[in-house]
Amino acid sequence: MAHVVLFDNGTHKNILLEDYTAGGFAVQANQHVIVDGKSGMILDPGGHKIYTKVLAATTGLLAGAKLETIFLSHQDPDIVAAVNGWLMTTDATAYVSSLWTRFVPHFGLDRLVESRLLPIADEGMTMTLGSSAMRIVPAHFLHSPGNFHVYDPISKILYSGDLGASIGTDYREVPDFDAHEKYMAGFHRRYMASGRALKAWAKVARQLDIEVIAPQHGALFKGKAMVDRFIGWCEGLECGVDIIDSLYAGKS
Ligand code: FE
Repeated sequence: MAHVVLFDNGTHKNILLEDYTAGGFAVQANQHVIVDGKSGMILDPGGHKIYTKVLAATTGLLAGAKLETIFLSHQDPDIVAAVNGWLMTTDATAYVSSLWTRFVPHFGLDRLVESRLLPIADEGMTMTLGSSAMRIVPAHFLHSPGNFHVYDPISKILYSGDLGASIGTDYREVPDFDAHEKYMAGFHRRYMASGRALKAWAKVARQLDIEVIAPQHGALFKGKAMVDRFIGWCEGLECGVDIIDSLYAGKS
C-alpha cells in the first residue's frame, strides 16, 4: 500500500492510493484523493474489501481538510459498493450519473444518506473544490452507459476511470506505449462499447490541456507525448459492438 503524490503546489494536492487491493482475485484498483485548501474529494473509493483501509488513509491524507465530495465515475462494484459507509462516516455528497442514482441504493444505501447521492446530467458539470473547479467530463459508454471522467485544471490530470485501464503490469507509469498496449487491448475491446464512443471522447480530450491520464486500474500515462499517444490509440480502436460477431464466436 502506498500513497503517491502526483501533484502538489502547496494549496492543491493530488494523491494516488495504490495497491489497496493487494493481489488476490479482486481486480487491482486505484483510488485518488484531491485536496484543495480545506476541501477534499475522493474518486471511485471502491468496495468493501478495501473500505476500512482507504477510509483511514484518506482521513490521514486530508490532514484536517474536510471530505466534501465523493465522485463515482460509474456504477460498478469496485467503485461504488462501499458508498454507504463513506456517506455514513462523512458529511460528503456523492455524485453519479443520473442513470445510476436509483440503482446504487441497491448496494445498501441507508435512508439517512440517500439525499446525499446526487445525479450528474449527461453533459457533465463543474464541481467546486476549495478555490478550484473540477470539470466532470462525459465519457458515456466507456464503458458504462452513464460514465464520467474528472479533469483537474490545476494539476492537469484527467482521471479516466476504466478508460486506459491496464491489467497485470507492475509499473506505476507507462514506460513504453507499444510494449504496454497488450495490457490494455483485451480489456478495451471487450469492456468499451464502440469506436464511435471512443472518438466522441477523444474529441473532448483533445480540447483539454492534459499532463497525466490516470485510469482506475493499472498504470498512468504521463507527459503530453504519452497522453497524445493514448488518445490516438483510442481514436483508432475497434471494440465492443464494432467486433460483436467475433465476440459471439468467442474470438475477442
Ligand atoms: Fe467498470
